[in-house]
Amino acid sequence: MEITLALLKPHVLRNTYALNQIKALIGNNFKVLEAKEVQITKELSERFYAEHKGKFFYHRLTSFMNSGPCYALILQADAGIQKWRQLMGPTKVFQAVYTEPQSIRGMYGLSDTRNACHGSDSKASALREISIIFPEYKMEKDTPQAEGQVAPQSQQTKLK
Ligand code: ATP
Ligand code: MG
Repeated sequence: MEITLALLKPHVLRNTYALNQIKALIGNNFKVLEAKEVQITKELSERFYAEHKGKFFYHRLTSFMNSGPCYALILQADAGIQKWRQLMGPTKVFQAVYTEPQSIRGMYGLSDTRNACHGSDSKASALREISIIFPEYKMEKDTPQAEGQVAPQSQQTKLK
């Protein structure tokens, strides 16, 4: 079992239909350990995307992530990191629309910046990103990533 951090970007939150469709997809594929609407500050967004500092889209991306609330989730599944990235589709929306039109980015992406969602790219990234977006999340309860165990049922969260 793996956990991953998923973010639904601000324009998705403004689209109730998209949000409900994506939540249903998530519910069918993952155990949701945590879920919340969160306003990411510019500073937090810059920390979150630190690996992209200096790239031409860094300011555009971090400003967009700060432009309204995001929906953040901690998801768990077998090979959950890859599973969520597969459901998201390619980073670039023109490619997503063309090659994977049924992916989340293919359906709800607007541009390379506003590409609908984020997903951690490794176990280490997942832990780092969860500590930024869910600082209150108890990592010691997070045995699945650390020891390959399933989180206790009580940790499951209902999607609202
Ligand atoms: P994410 O990290 O959001 O899950 P990813 O791992 O597929 O996506 P990264 O290369 O990590 O892609 O890029 C992080 C984010 O930066 C992308 O989701 C996208 O919004 C933005 N981004 C990446 N490349 C570009 C680009 N060429 N132009 C504009 N924005 C970009
Ligand atoms: Mg990435």
